[in-house]
Amino acid sequence: MRTAPTILHLDMDAFYASVEQAAKPSLRGKAVIVGGLGPRGVVATASYEARVFGVHSAMPMAQARRLAPNAAYLVPRFGIYRRISEQVMSLLRGLSPLVEPLSLDEAFVDLEAGGAAWDEESARRVGVKLRADIRAVTGLTGSVGLAASKMLAKIASEQAKPDGLTLIRPGTERALLGPMPVRTLPGVGPATGDHLRRAGITTIDEIAEAGEDELVRLLGKAHGQALYAMALAHDERPVVAEREAKSVSVEDTYDVDIHDRLRIGLEVQRLADRCVRRLRDAGLSGRTIVLKVRRYDFSTLTRSETLRGPTDDQAVVREAAARLLEPVDTTGGVRLLGVGVSGLADYTQEDLFAQAHLAAGEATAEERPEAEEPLAEEQAAPPERVWLAGHDVRHGEYGPGWVQGSGLGRVTVRFETPQSGPGRVRTFSVDDPQLEPADPLPLVLDVPEIAERPAPTGTGA
Ligand SMILES: [Mg+2]
Repeated sequence: MRTAPTILHLDMDAFYASVEQAAKPSLRGKAVIVGGLGPRGVVATASYEARVFGVHSAMPMAQARRLAPNAAYLVPRFGIYRRISEQVMSLLRGLSPLVEPLSLDEAFVDLEAGGAAWDEESARRVGVKLRADIRAVTGLTGSVGLAASKMLAKIASEQAKPDGLTLIRPGTERALLGPMPVRTLPGVGPATGDHLRRAGITTIDEIAEAGEDELVRLLGKAHGQALYAMALAHDERPVVAEREAKSVSVEDTYDVDIHDRLRIGLEVQRLADRCVRRLRDAGLSGRTIVLKVRRYDFSTLTRSETLRGPTDDQAVVREAAARLLEPVDTTGGVRLLGVGVSGLADYTQEDLFAQAHLAAGEATAEERPEAEEPLAEEQAAPPERVWLAGHDVRHGEYGPGWVQGSGLGRVTVRFETPQSGPGRVRTFSVDDPQLEPADPLPLVLDVPEIAERPAPTGTGA
């Protein structure tokens, strides 16, 4: 195991719920629950205010509603979560080539491999700056754990939550782990936890005391040995970079730095075409277009844009790459350019919510439209438009807002934006011609460009 706490684990705080609170001023400081709202729906994320009532992720939605009847219940908006995830992951990729995403909002980073940190002090500095950068770019908070292994880095970020940073000093791991419950260790679910408890083992210290033979007897060879090793804080698992299959990219390094802006643009087009050929040869399509630019001073910038749907269209990738290049400052010259397409395989999290979209027509948010005066009933019944709770709309007269609830032929909209104060609610007929679905509004208006420290040469991945 390494001797410095240079494995970083980042976990965004209550990610989906925090995005919703940032986007919807009236929900700040309130219980917000995001997930599938259909009969078999589950909670994806609960805000910290909702957790007070005992609501947590993976809980059946019906149970959450009993625990927190007055919370706001929203359908996930994966488009914006994915866009913010890309921003966060691109900050992480600026630290190291070894970034291992675990979900949209969680990843391991090997800081040593990127040359970003080599000891406790440098690791802490990187963690502090990363948290500040994430806040500046996304407007959201993430917690950082730093340790000498993946297991401990993840435990550290859990301890840091919310909005904190925890560093576990190498050498102190065992003392720290000892009194913790066995469930803290990866791979110990409720069943294994029960099994151990029946054998009188409830803390990590007690696993260590029981000894390897006893653990193997209780849990079988593979699981027993693995758990015993983890209880002693032995974890040699490397940080594995994002699987190749998840992205296709091409890049070129130039012998002489390119200064001519026109030429840079043409190179990017050429790389986009090459990337699309590769994508098609592999029978793939993807939804996130990534542009990489390494400047004369070795500072490297990655920018990405996530499309509404997957593409393998040359024109679309070209255009996206050109848009990404536009704001990049290339004065001084460019020594490397790259174009990639990622998001080829969707995160498994989404499977949970395929059902969320079935929940469509239901009345969902806490404030249902009040049924004082029924609207003109006898309409020629065109297919009823679907308004998902939490999703973005725009009204011809009142501007941007979000669906607070719908049912009984009406839809309630709250008119507010990430930058406004809490807004007012108005109720419309579901087929109000002035009301239209809209794209999510950005949480941060002027995203600062985060300059990366020049990467030292010769750091291998
Ligand atoms: Mg999280």
